[in-house]
Amino acid sequence: MAESTASQNSTKTPSIEELYNDQDHWHVNTGGETIHAKRMGGLFRNLKWWAASVWLLFFLGPYLRWGDRQAILFDIEGRQFHIFNITILPQDVWMLALLLLFFAILLAVVTSIAGRVYCGYFCFQTVWVDVFTLIEEKLEGNPAQRRKLDKEPLSLRKATIKTVKHTIWLLIGILTGVSFTLWFTDAREMWHDFFTLQASTIAWGTVFVFAFFTHLFAAFMREQVCFWLCPYARIQGVMVDEETILPAYDIRRGEPRGKLKKGEVQEGHGDCVSCNLCVAVCPTGGDIRDGQQEGCITCGLCIDACNEVMDKIDKPHGLIRYASLDAILGKPTIPTFKRPRVLVYTGIMLLSLIGIIYGMFNLGSVELKVLHERQPLFVRQSDGSIQNKYELKILNKTDRDINFLISAHGPDQLVLVDNVSHIHTKFGTTNSHTIFVRVPNKARKQEIEPIEFTITAEDNSEITTSYESMFIGPKP
Ligand code: SF4
Ligand code: SF4
Repeated sequence: MAESTASQNSTKTPSIEELYNDQDHWHVNTGGETIHAKRMGGLFRNLKWWAASVWLLFFLGPYLRWGDRQAILFDIEGRQFHIFNITILPQDVWMLALLLLFFAILLAVVTSIAGRVYCGYFCFQTVWVDVFTLIEEKLEGNPAQRRKLDKEPLSLRKATIKTVKHTIWLLIGILTGVSFTLWFTDAREMWHDFFTLQASTIAWGTVFVFAFFTHLFAAFMREQVCFWLCPYARIQGVMVDEETILPAYDIRRGEPRGKLKKGEVQEGHGDCVSCNLCVAVCPTGGDIRDGQQEGCITCGLCIDACNEVMDKIDKPHGLIRYASLDAILGKPTIPTFKRPRVLVYTGIMLLSLIGIIYGMFNLGSVELKVLHERQPLFVRQSDGSIQNKYELKILNKTDRDINFLISAHGPDQLVLVDNVSHIHTKFGTTNSHTIFVRVPNKARKQEIEPIEFTITAEDNSEITTSYESMFIGPKP
């Protein structure tokens, strides 16, 4: 009796939920095999190329000019970041912090809505691997030919193909490294320095490190980088839930799997014909039919593959499709904009965006602060006039030294003592200048009167700013 119960339990048909949550089926390639994925066309394949083209900005961005300098330049040595006409100094680093927060939360929102879509479409590791494997396919052929070549003993043909392949890969790695350095120094000067071997040790070191790791990660480690090295891949599990839209196999439609026999679909089976094309195209070697895989980067290539099969057997698309777990299991779904985690993430993202926009519109090319001297608050001169002392702190955020004209408006008949009306400022630093303002006592109306200081660049009246302070004296 006990035996019969055990036997019944062992043969009990698992529910759809159990099948989907059955992680025993997970296949994780721990580096023991090289994935040679099949390349096929399709909607998501095209989307991947469009998304990857964003990285052209990485290579071409440093050649954009703005006036007589590079449009985007992260000048670490000069402690200035130039982004078109905006210059960010260390004092404005809070904006960069907000920008990082914005992108971190954006990643969380996107992951919560659509899983690792960043990994599948935009991540540099995915994009570089895609380019590297495309070159590999052009030189070595389709996956079967590549596997065959890998197993072949060393021959002149094999050595030539492998040498050409690794040389091209290495050149891409070097170009990646050089392009990275161009964001930190004027691109034209940097190329000149590389060609004349005058580049700094740091620049050469950066190129070497990038070339080495690009080659190692994109040519050899490939999906293993996502498995073992990427922190985002590890934490994304806490950002997804049953409502997250991911590439998913419709188990209710696909099972039980049939076989294609002489072009005929077997009757009494689901729509999956066990062609394994979805596995063959997967760049991480996973089988989406076993549920969400640890290595799945949600690239959608298995969807393209399966849709093509469905076309051939005259079935509707979508046996594998982007869908949430609840949708696949036929449960009620919650609209994206009503999901609490999406709302919370979006709220934080909007706050940081507001901060960034505020910063952008309030970042002038010059900042002025005026500190009123406290000890003493004022001095009565021998002619009876009242004198106040101020310290002007001028932050010149441009990329050149500037002479500023100073003016002050406030109490009647005020004068700048010694007619100090010019200040020379060095770029990228805060310049301090002390000035004295004097007002005849009879011209004063009250103890404290507002006074406004304005500085204007001598050679460009658009570079100007003002600061309000006060003029203090005894009761008039
Ligand atoms: S491509 Fe579609 S039909 Fe072929 S094995 Fe995968 S799920 Fe089944
Ligand atoms: S299972 Fe599908 S979506 Fe996931 S990585 Fe493989 S091909 Fe891309």
